[in-house]
Amino acid sequence: NKFVFNFGRQTDGNATMRELLGGKGANLAEMAAIGLPVPPGFTISTEVCTYFYEHSRSYPKTLSKDVEKAIKLVEDQMGREFGSRDNPLLVSVRSGARDSMPGMMDTILNLGLNDETVQGLSNISGNPRFAWDCYRRFIQMYGDVVMGVQAANDESEEPFHALLDDMKKSLGKELDNELTAEELQELVSRYKLLIKKETGDEFPQDVFQQLWGAIGAVFGSWKNDRAILYRQQYGIPAEWGTAVNIQAMVFGNAGDDSGTGVAFTRDPASGEKVFYGEYLTNAQGEDVVAGVRTPKPISAMAQELPKNFADLEKVRSRLEKHFKDMQDFEFTIENGRLFILQTRNGKRTGLAAIRIAVEMNKEKLIDQKTALLKIPAESVDTLLVPVFDLKAQKVAELICKGLPAGPGAATGRIAFTAAQAEIEARKGNKVILCRSETSPDDLKGMLHSQGILTTRGGVSSHAALVARQLGKVCICGAGDITINYEKKTLTAHGITLKEGDYISINGTTGSVYKGLIESADSEVKRVLEGTMKPEDSYTYQLFQTIMEWSDKHRKLRIRTNADTPAMAQSAVQFGAEGIGLCRTEHMFFEGSRIDDMRQMILAIDGVQRREALKKLLPMQRKDFVGLFRAMGDRPVTIRLLDPPLHEFLPQDDAVRRQLADKLGLPLEFVIDRIKALHEENPMLGCRGCRLGILYPEITEMQAQAIFEAAAEVMGGKNPIKVQPEIMIPLVGFKAELADQLAIVRRIADEVMNKKGVKIKYMVGTMVEVPRAAITADEIAEQAEFFSFGTNDLTQTTLGLSRDDMGMFYDEYQQKEIYSKNPFASLDKTGVGKLMQFAVDNGLRTRKDLKLGICGEHAGDPDSIDFCHKLGLQYVSCSPPRVPIARLAAAQAAL
Ligand code: ADP
Ligand code: MG
Ligand code: MG
Repeated sequence: NKFVFNFGRQTDGNATMRELLGGKGANLAEMAAIGLPVPPGFTISTEVCTYFYEHSRSYPKTLSKDVEKAIKLVEDQMGREFGSRDNPLLVSVRSGARDSMPGMMDTILNLGLNDETVQGLSNISGNPRFAWDCYRRFIQMYGDVVMGVQAANDESEEPFHALLDDMKKSLGKELDNELTAEELQELVSRYKLLIKKETGDEFPQDVFQQLWGAIGAVFGSWKNDRAILYRQQYGIPAEWGTAVNIQAMVFGNAGDDSGTGVAFTRDPASGEKVFYGEYLTNAQGEDVVAGVRTPKPISAMAQELPKNFADLEKVRSRLEKHFKDMQDFEFTIENGRLFILQTRNGKRTGLAAIRIAVEMNKEKLIDQKTALLKIPAESVDTLLVPVFDLKAQKVAELICKGLPAGPGAATGRIAFTAAQAEIEARKGNKVILCRSETSPDDLKGMLHSQGILTTRGGVSSHAALVARQLGKVCICGAGDITINYEKKTLTAHGITLKEGDYISINGTTGSVYKGLIESADSEVKRVLEGTMKPEDSYTYQLFQTIMEWSDKHRKLRIRTNADTPAMAQSAVQFGAEGIGLCRTEHMFFEGSRIDDMRQMILAIDGVQRREALKKLLPMQRKDFVGLFRAMGDRPVTIRLLDPPLHEFLPQDDAVRRQLADKLGLPLEFVIDRIKALHEENPMLGCRGCRLGILYPEITEMQAQAIFEAAAEVMGGKNPIKVQPEIMIPLVGFKAELADQLAIVRRIADEVMNKKGVKIKYMVGTMVEVPRAAITADEIAEQAEFFSFGTNDLTQTTLGLSRDDMGMFYDEYQQKEIYSKNPFASLDKTGVGKLMQFAVDNGLRTRKDLKLGICGEHAGDPDSIDFCHKLGLQYVSCSPPRVPIARLAAAQAAL
């Protein structure tokens, strides 16, 4: 088995061998192979790491021979000798996992120095100060990483640093590089004493002992606390292991014509094609990131080291041409000679990801498909959300942090109730609705608000769901805040704000600020709404480009969940091709309708109920006319009434009294009826199709409104080819569906006869309880389409209420019981299996069964990928997520 891979004059590896060589090793090999100035060295593979942990921290037998051979090869190329007192070779021993884990594992520089070789280094460099600087750095790193001389705890000072600081202080010096050779030599003695005192061992003088100590420590650092935590965070498997890279040292600390730095081939924040990075002269590796001295911007190098800057520019374009992605690379200059020490694909913001992908395609560096695959679909959001003015945010006072639940920036006056939000909004003020938690009653208030802040509930709470649906900025679970509804105050960390005071929330980061922060609509939005010209917004052009590319490649159609013409319109602007879910209940909250709705619910018999429904019919019809007009010839799926009726009834005593007065009913009667409608577990109670079966007149009214609206928009000056798709919710038995279907078809016939038109419509069901999925073959006898309602399907499959998972969710996440929040990303192995079963069996009964998904998951890229593989025809997500879904659907198809 080959365990050691050389790079340099002889190169055994390449960029594709990340699994074996780690990212750093693979790219060092690749750079060496294409002739970039990489100091020679070799990589010990990740297989040795696995062996190391499986054999109580020992190595394969052949390894020491292989390492000696590889060292010889490096010696030849450098013209130096490892451990030689005259002409010593020094090496670095560097960690490097398959995916970069920046700074999590250990690296040791200047290895090979001892009391003799330090003299040799001093002689050949003619620079004793430099030699002793390298030695003290080496002892410091080795003492820390290999011999374990470390700070006792997080608060106490790192012991080597303490000695260095003492020394500087007693000499009245400020910077490390002001110490003379003699002073550094003295420091080395003190370091060695410290090691002896702390460990009882001498600092090793044998260079091969040093080398194996370092190799063991780097492999060992794969399992240090930091690395483990990082792996958990980013889902990196513990089995991967790290490689160890051993590389000839080059010296950025050899004088003022030397230096070290980190550079990005493009700006990782904005994506702009400018050289980006920083460097330090007369410094070694870690100094740049460690903040010992403040580095200079890379542009300053053009003056300070013009020849090296020109070389670096060449490397920059070479790296991009070769790796075909934005690179983040490390370099060192030794006495005017440039060396490259590492390169990797640079981490970047969402905006930068998009800009870089589009521009690299324009530059013919990558093709369209590659470009699309390089953009995390979520990053499209960064082009769409309103933003805070950055300068203003910086000076604003931070109150606390909550869960970022709806991205973007919002600022406005505090309102503690939905009613107050409406009052403020009507005055033309911007409002942030601040609640302990929200209920469906608050919807109207949310509509009137710029943003929503809650102190309880998670990112999948009602508030967050509705906020995302509406594209509102939202922060949930800001637990440090206490709201006092009586006093109308909000308090956190000694700051108290009153109703009407300004507050600002950044839903992208979860930060809550005191006062007003200026914000602006996204440019994309302004162009789509016609208040900005497309040619004036580069952001819009980027957006447009990736959307066009996405549409070319995707197979899935993208619909939207929208309840109002305005929502539908904005979704169409974003590219929605239909409505996949119109929740009719939301329509009943508007204006004074809620009272008519309440009258209908409080009715004691069918006769009274029909009376009340008569008043609701024209309003519903008008809603659907508006919706159909907004959607034009695109299909519209309308779900019949779904929520338990008590959700429409007032909780507040005063409102109950008003309602009783308005309807001319005794207050006790109203209270009794509300009591009678109470359910222990409304989520599993009288809701969905059960409502329509119990009160067929509700289904009749809704069907009549839909078909009459359809008939209306089919005629007139601008006729529309409507395609209503009527969806029966919460079906588990085919008989349930048959019951409702009969009503819908009867009403359809009546309306078509009366109006003398033929309306092309479909009737189908939402698959949202396991029984529907399990009996999909039977359900498909009745249903012309299935739409997976994965919110409820997840709740019912997991036996878990999404509003009540707060208590254990953190614990579950920490123990990795749920790999992801099952309400945010589809539980493919559980819920997904049910979906697969329903698709297979549904199609067996009905070959042309139309299949889609309308749960929140329809906006999640990972879930979209799954839906593509399932063979669904469309996904239906909230309007602001439509662009993300377009890109994600393309990526699924590539
Ligand atoms: P990390 O993965 O934490 O960045 P590295 O292995 O890249 O650790 O090394 C840390 C620092 O040491 C980097 O700045 C790197 O450029 C520098 N370095 C590593 N090897 C050498 C070398 N052979 N010569 C000079 N500097 C080196
Ligand atoms: Mg590095
Ligand atoms: Mg449902």
